[in-house]
Amino acid sequence: MPDARLRTVMQRILNAADAAGRPAPALLAVSKTQPAEAVAALAAAGHVAFGENYVQEAAAKRAALAARHPALQWHLIGHLQSNKAALAAEVFDWVQSVDRPGVVDALARHRPPARGPLNVLVQVNVEGETGKAGCRPEDLPALVERVAAQPALAFRGLMSIPVPHPDPEQRRPAFRRMRGLFESLAGRHPGVDTLSMGMSDDFAIAIAEGATLVRIGTALFGPRGAGPNPPTERP
Ligand SMILES: *Cc1c(COP(=O)(O)O)cnc(C)c1O
Repeated sequence: MPDARLRTVMQRILNAADAAGRPAPALLAVSKTQPAEAVAALAAAGHVAFGENYVQEAAAKRAALAARHPALQWHLIGHLQSNKAALAAEVFDWVQSVDRPGVVDALARHRPPARGPLNVLVQVNVEGETGKAGCRPEDLPALVERVAAQPALAFRGLMSIPVPHPDPEQRRPAFRRMRGLFESLAGRHPGVDTLSMGMSDDFAIAIAEGATLVRIGTALFGPRGAGPNPPTERP
């Protein structure tokens, strides 16, 4: 029952926001590896925002659903390879995983003008883990200026995936640090309104620390991997 799961997750989000005295964040349904029909079921229940990790997988689902559900919003949350940037600029409404100058320039160059500005979040590797996606905090100001200077892009805020400590409570300092970065940017960039953090097992903590958008897959769709539509791309 997809709409029962959706209602349960939305209620848990509201409860977490209430408990923390925070406004309720938006919900991004993370549909990676799920078949288009699983997206259609949530869309029929009124949900519009979906997150995908792989560009081609998202392009296929968007095409499969365009006639039935033309108003869906597609967000890229997986690492963006430079050679996929042109397709990503066409397919997505948001790219949350912008983390280096080359990707900023490629998305801006390839965004079809008729699609309007592409919403962009800059992904921050807030704990400075080596080899992980996301820009380093010290590189953030220059990257933000580069995004904000592109008329084809709309700079909307920040995204983060903390180190997956087995105890989600240990991710709290990373969420808190993200909020500090986010608030200092929001003061300087009027369009900035989105802090994307929190997944199925830690969204309540992320909400308490200031998330305005949570990205939830497993709690909405069940476990990944055994579905009829396994991923054919790797990040
Ligand atoms: C898969 C994924 C999620 C959703 O994770 P769940 O634990 O299934 O809720 C959120 N954000 C990103 C970047 C992901 O890759």
